[in-house]
Amino acid sequence: AQNVKKHFPTGGGLFQKKGLVKAVDGVSLSITPGETFAIVGESGCGKSTLARLLMRLLDPTSGDVVFDGKQVTAAKGVALSALRRDMQFIFQDPFSSLNPRMTVGKLVGEPLEVHAPELSKIDRRAKVADLLAKVGLRPEHADRYAHEFSGGQRQRIGIARALASGPRLIIGDEPVSALDVSVQAQVVNLLGDLGRDLGLTLVLIAHDLAVIRHMSDRVAVMYLGKIVEQGTTDDVFEQPRHPYTRALLDAIPDLDDQSGASRARIEGEMPSPSAPPPGCAFHTRCPHATALCREAVPQPVETPNGHMTACHHWQDIPAAPRQTTPRSK
Ligand code: SF4
Ligand code: MG
Repeated sequence: AQNVKKHFPTGGGLFQKKGLVKAVDGVSLSITPGETFAIVGESGCGKSTLARLLMRLLDPTSGDVVFDGKQVTAAKGVALSALRRDMQFIFQDPFSSLNPRMTVGKLVGEPLEVHAPELSKIDRRAKVADLLAKVGLRPEHADRYAHEFSGGQRQRIGIARALASGPRLIIGDEPVSALDVSVQAQVVNLLGDLGRDLGLTLVLIAHDLAVIRHMSDRVAVMYLGKIVEQGTTDDVFEQPRHPYTRALLDAIPDLDDQSGASRARIEGEMPSPSAPPPGCAFHTRCPHATALCREAVPQPVETPNGHMTACHHWQDIPAAPRQTTPRSK
């Protein structure tokens, strides 16, 4: 993605001033084939919009998205349908994203009808059974309806459907956040295993860092439409170089802490994306903010350990607390 922007006009009615929500405001990133790349931020930061722009489910206001040397932003006709085969999406809500009137076999087989029309009915049925097995479901599940399944199983159906076209890139928009905590890890692990076994590139959107700690190679942290920090997951967890990342890390619950002590919360509310604060947009919540921060927009810089941060005072950010790093017991 090169300097991608998505601005939505708002208001203009009787009681509302006309405005502009800069949902995604100049995002550049580069994802390497085969890696798992996470995009993290609080709700409203623009991460779902960014995911949809990467997949061309939305058109950007400006900027470019390129996939494997091919322009995504301008793709039409045959080129667009090839991209639809190569890039698939897993939705946040497995309850509303699967058509309740279609059997599981039809749901998973439908992309095959589009992308592999040469398959006979029998071959398609065999392929569906194979896809269901890949996600831990059984062939007889093909004759049932999505609503007969639990949330975790429905998300497995969603994953099987995403795999049907033989994609190279899968984007999951908070694929486990609507699920019971007890099944979240299973679905995350399934995605990780499939990614490895099939050589997929995964982009995972999440609102907290805990979910992606053990499965992403690199992470980008978003705040109010911009990437504020980007680096390898290990570096970002151990040596955060942006106060917002540090605050997200402090908000991760410590599972070993039996004292019941509540974790730090990020101070204050996220400002409205239609009226972002001047200077550094995080200054209204940042414990390190200075006069400079209230006036000048911090430009992205590369730190010595090779990650990107957009903070005037990145050198002053303390390392992450030990409990967010893997412990040997
Ligand atoms: Fe905080 Fe200033 Fe850095 Fe923004 S630029 S994150 S306000 S220290
Ligand atoms: Mg979202």
